[in-house]
Amino acid sequence: MRIGIDLGGTKTEVIALGDRGETLYRHRLPTPRDDYQGTLNTIATLVNEAEKATGMTGSVGVGIPGTLSPLSHHVKNANSVWLNDQPLDNDLSALLQRPVRLANDANCLAVSEAVGGAGLDVVFAIIIGTGCGAGIALNGRAHAGRNGIAGEWGHNPLPWQNEQERQFAQTVPCYCGQSGCIETLFPAPVSLPTIAMSRAMPVTGKPLFHWRVREIAPQNKHCNAMSNVWPNPLHT
Ligand SMILES: [Zn+2]
Repeated sequence: MRIGIDLGGTKTEVIALGDRGETLYRHRLPTPRDDYQGTLNTIATLVNEAEKATGMTGSVGVGIPGTLSPLSHHVKNANSVWLNDQPLDNDLSALLQRPVRLANDANCLAVSEAVGGAGLDVVFAIIIGTGCGAGIALNGRAHAGRNGIAGEWGHNPLPWQNEQERQFAQTVPCYCGQSGCIETLFPAPVSLPTIAMSRAMPVTGKPLFHWRVREIAPQNKHCNAMSNVWPNPLHT
């Protein structure tokens, strides 16, 4: 049995797959924000649940935001910033008492599409969730590059910004230190990255539609700024 974990910024999900790729178990829990030990415990809980439900032991792989630094082997470039600089693979291996393999979640998506989805030789896969990332798969394998995130595009500037988007970028800088990043301006389950940055309200992972952003706006200056730049590249 293979156990996969999708470690997201707002939710963490486990899937247990049988030898033929069939789904044996699936469940998700909220990701404890800003709580590294809590995140470890959540992953361990999900793995234990999956093994208890199936009565089997499995290998474990985790798709993470960011990647492991080739130099330090600690997490880097994660928008779930409490993971950064942590030896996540070693800590999970110790907790679960088995080798645990980590890979960038967008790279995992790209490979998944290349192998079981689109089935194409070249895949550029985009994740728009709590953050906004992307990965590349070539001939069914992740094109990771020297830093493990060759397909990453979330921290490139959003092209063809209009005046409102430029104003928003100046008002709400990205956590990476730049401004105008796609990650902060791409509003699908919109403004979640922005709201997460503000830490002023719980992040539920539910899509935020325009009316909801306007409802929240008076409570939150970042939401207020976001509500003023609607509509943007993606419409819901
Ligand atoms: Zn950025």
